[in-house]
Amino acid sequence: MPLSLQNTLSRSLETFVPLEEGRIRLYTCGPTVYNRVHIGNLRTFVWEDVMCRTFRWLGYRTTQVMNLTDIDDKTIRGAVAEGLSLREFTQKHVETFFLDLATLGVAPADVYPRATDHIEEMVEIVRKLEERGHTYESDGSVWFRIASFPAYGRLSRVDPSAMKRGARVADDEYEKEDVRDFAVWKGAKEGEPDSATWTTPLGRGRPGWHLECSAMAMKYLGETLDIHTGAVDNIFPHHENEIAQSEGATGKAFVRTWMHAEHLVVDGEKMSKSKGNFFTLPDLLARGASPRAIRYLLLSVPYRQKLNFTFDALAGAASALERLESLDRRLEERCGGSAGTDATPGFAARLAGSLAGFRAGLEDDLNTAAALGALFGAVKETNADLEAGRLTSGDAAAARAFLRRADEVLGVLPKEERASLDAGIEGKIEARQAARKRRDFAAADAIRDELLAAGIVLEDTPQGVRWKRKP
Ligand code: AMP
Ligand code: ZN
Repeated sequence: MPLSLQNTLSRSLETFVPLEEGRIRLYTCGPTVYNRVHIGNLRTFVWEDVMCRTFRWLGYRTTQVMNLTDIDDKTIRGAVAEGLSLREFTQKHVETFFLDLATLGVAPADVYPRATDHIEEMVEIVRKLEERGHTYESDGSVWFRIASFPAYGRLSRVDPSAMKRGARVADDEYEKEDVRDFAVWKGAKEGEPDSATWTTPLGRGRPGWHLECSAMAMKYLGETLDIHTGAVDNIFPHHENEIAQSEGATGKAFVRTWMHAEHLVVDGEKMSKSKGNFFTLPDLLARGASPRAIRYLLLSVPYRQKLNFTFDALAGAASALERLESLDRRLEERCGGSAGTDATPGFAARLAGSLAGFRAGLEDDLNTAAALGALFGAVKETNADLEAGRLTSGDAAAARAFLRRADEVLGVLPKEERASLDAGIEGKIEARQAARKRRDFAAADAIRDELLAAGIVLEDTPQGVRWKRKP
């Protein structure tokens, strides 16, 4: 079966063909680094991880860029409130974000660019937009004139003709009803810290949020990307505006396939900071949840369905995972870790069928529920064979290899999680050592606390720092 993906642009399932054979370039909108991400955000990031793993599993090479939104209304407000420079303020949240990704076994993206490091590229896009007649200046800011871009509204299906003449919106985020010209460059305002504004040919100021993603996507992936993702709240205005700016500047198609994940909800409402109905990863770990069960829960619901978070659902995920793990342990006992030479052809053929079913699920727009259905079908049959004493040690080894192969995408079995988790922890410990060296004990302690929240205890010994998991 060919790989099919739902394209938000066409609102239909399309056979996916990358621009360059064998290689997929994708941009995944990253977090706004002003506080700890919640598990709703993490649902989107885990989905994107499963997507990239699936592409690699199917034989593609991937280039994934995930930005860190470190300039926007919220990060600036946060830095001002805490009396820190923008970079100092966002750095703390960047670090905890990486820790959360590592805890959930998310494979790192190829690049994590920050908006603050790409001001020049953003100014360059504004300059091109000016040249092509898409902008005007007013109140010290540069605005995108959406009437100059006839395709405006194609992604979100908002109607730009409903727009009031001359109406503008300065906020980074706004409602769908506000179809208005938006700021690509915001002139410096009274009360904004120096660390959050830049002196540029456009004057002193800072970029709008949407411009940041256009600039970083095109810098690392070229003017036309294969895939751009986010959750559904990103469709308008964020992604609609990204298209207008990018295509307005280059005259080329910006993204071929747009993909959007549905939200994680609580009692039918989107989990969000502003509603206060959120859990962070440390909140769940403190209640005794395992990172792998959380990952399992987040990926088990296909991304285009809302995921209703409950503790019952989390317990269900933990018990599904336990079924996988206990089968894996029994298989290991059966085959003693060796490949064996007594595999039965019938059993191997059945496993191959299950693997094909797992693959078909993923190829059908990353339908993880269908893929897990195929996996658990095989688990059930293999358990029955084990119980009936029908399984040879070669069969057991083949079944273990099958579980491992499926887990390359899922990333929920113990070993894989440990490896990436350990790498994340070691990175963290290095960051803490660096902070101590520059005598920034507050930062060093913050890292120690973060690790503690994730169940990792540090011990300073004469031989260096050792770590262990809390029992
Ligand atoms: P933000 O930090 O607000 O820019 O969000 C980071 C990512 O998480 C974006 O792609 C959002 O669309 C996504 N997101 C925010 N809330 C939720 C939610 N409740 N469920 C799933 N994804 C979300
Ligand atoms: Zn973005």
